[in-house]
Amino acid sequence: MSIRVIDAHSHLDEITDIHGAIAKAKSSNIIAIVAVGTCKESNIKIARFSEVYRGYVYHTVGIHPWNIESLDLEEEFEFLKSYSRNCVGIGEVGLDYRIKTDRDLQKKVFSEVLSIAESRKLPVIIHARAAWSDAYRMVREVGIEKAIFHWFSGSDSVLKKIVRDGYLISATPAASYSLTHIKAIKLTPIESIIVESDSPVSYRGIVSDPSWAVKSLEAVAKIKGIRVEDLADRILENTCRIYGVKVYNR
Ligand SMILES: [Zn+2]
Repeated sequence: MSIRVIDAHSHLDEITDIHGAIAKAKSSNIIAIVAVGTCKESNIKIARFSEVYRGYVYHTVGIHPWNIESLDLEEEFEFLKSYSRNCVGIGEVGLDYRIKTDRDLQKKVFSEVLSIAESRKLPVIIHARAAWSDAYRMVREVGIEKAIFHWFSGSDSVLKKIVRDGYLISATPAASYSLTHIKAIKLTPIESIIVESDSPVSYRGIVSDPSWAVKSLEAVAKIKGIRVEDLADRILENTCRIYGVKVYNR
């Protein structure tokens, strides 16, 4: 099967055998990987990967809500404002209401990061576990033009607004078994979907890698009732559009 897939969200800095993971991705129809950052240290590490694997690994810069309590936030904000080299987005950022971190602090950080993204006109990659409606509202208020709601599993009403506003959702391999994720994909037009691995996250106990973005694509095809071959390029186009990435026939 000859398809082309971009893994739109991977934590390459958390993968132990990076060379092995890249080789496996290349032989599994993955034509590019977007590595997302979670703090300054992670941002710098994946920026280096994007130089080593130029034209194959792209990277973003972010501050993950899971990290904010342990970071020097001023230093993190300064980094996001000033960092420019080949960065394709701001993320992973957002809100997570299932963790203990104070919600007001999370919102303060998210709001600061959103205004940085807005001033830099970069797409935002959003993590919003149990916080979909607040995250959507904040993105809207700041006037963000491009946003990806990663692993969307929120309500139908928030999803409708996301689609209406031209934002995207990204599907993970959980699209093969998570009922909330499946429902969201069912309701979202193909033009508003991209696929990712979120690797090395475990799905049902198995550690993933970037090649798993193909499983996400297969799950979306199954939900939409169309052939993977007929879906792949449409998803690829959405991914290239949001990240401003150009891919060539190789
Ligand atoms: Zn992630």
